[in-house]
Amino acid sequence: MGFKKAIVNLMPNPLVKIFSAPYVAGTGLESGLSAAERFWDEEKLHSTIDLLGEEVYDHDEVEGVVEIYLEAVRRLQGRKYATVSLKPTQLGIFEGEGYCLENMRKIISTAGKQNLHVTIDMEDHPYADVTLRFFHELRDEFDNVGTVLQSRLFRTRDDILSLPKKPCKIRTCIGIYNEPANVALQKKSEMKEQLFENMQLLLEHGHYPEIATHDVALINRCVKFLEENKIPSNRYEFQMLMGVPRKAIQHKLLERGEIVRLYVPFAEKWKYALAYCKRRLAANPMMAAYVLKNIVGKSTGR
Ligand SMILES: Cc1cc2nc3c(=O)[nH]c(=O)nc-3n(C[C@H](O)[C@H](O)[C@H](O)COP(=O)(O)OP(=O)(O)OC[C@H]3O[C@@H](n4cnc5c(N)ncnc54)[C@H](O)[C@@H]3O)c2cc1C
Repeated sequence: MGFKKAIVNLMPNPLVKIFSAPYVAGTGLESGLSAAERFWDEEKLHSTIDLLGEEVYDHDEVEGVVEIYLEAVRRLQGRKYATVSLKPTQLGIFEGEGYCLENMRKIISTAGKQNLHVTIDMEDHPYADVTLRFFHELRDEFDNVGTVLQSRLFRTRDDILSLPKKPCKIRTCIGIYNEPANVALQKKSEMKEQLFENMQLLLEHGHYPEIATHDVALINRCVKFLEENKIPSNRYEFQMLMGVPRKAIQHKLLERGEIVRLYVPFAEKWKYALAYCKRRLAANPMMAAYVLKNIVGKSTGR
């Protein structure tokens, strides 16, 4: 386990909640909706709104999640700057694939009536097959659904080549989950090289890549490729996480007329939000420095 991940795992939950505040819009749907509105009004940043939650095993809680998403998509009517993102393990996959698929179908069909796009997030690799099965089935029925492919996984190139023949919106990212060496690349540089290739492959096959990275060099490399190949800016977009400090590159992209979309998560029950918050904290390069500063500060009485 990495140093940062070990530190984050040792943190008491209230501290996780405090430190991860920049990555989360707040508590309750209203916080997600108003953050998205603010990003749009103030900076012309698009959003994808997400109810934080994964591994929800309780039937009533799953029903509650569905209700919140239905309310979210109704409230987002006419707000062209927003989409929503959701996860299979918060929508009842533990009760059976049929139940989970039905829950997704309800949300996607309601969203479709409001011209609102829905992304099915990709969780760790044991869920890749079922998530893609859901995506294929739902894409067959609806135009307003996309999913995510993680460039670290060896399978991803084949998954791109097996996508439905209709254009698909596919978030292409390196993937946040540590995956074993038998299924995934282990070096970040290789994952990023693969992300670049996946973006090209998606475009080649008529899909719409949602280029999700905070790596400025990689973003600039993508921009150069898109420009040199005269790819119109309605064929792709850039995505970043709320809370990751990337104002300069976001504004540079916006000035070029690109779509930049932020992932805007909100919490209902914090017990379901903690896993996301811990992943974000563990990915923050300042975490180790911050913790060390506190340890040194305490030992020197500062
Ligand atoms: C919109 C969006 C949706 C995503 N959806 C999924 C998904 O469905 N499934 C999935 O597995 N992964 C998802 N991810 C996560 C993604 O796969 C990566 O893990 C994450 O974006 C970090 O990779 P990176 O390409 O930014 O490269 P990195 O090398 O990890 O990051 C580049 C630089 O960005 C900065 N940075 C990155 N993270 C943080 C942070 N938390 N705090 C402060 N600075 C940071 C650092 O300076 C770092 O050096 C999503 C990411 C985005 C942006």
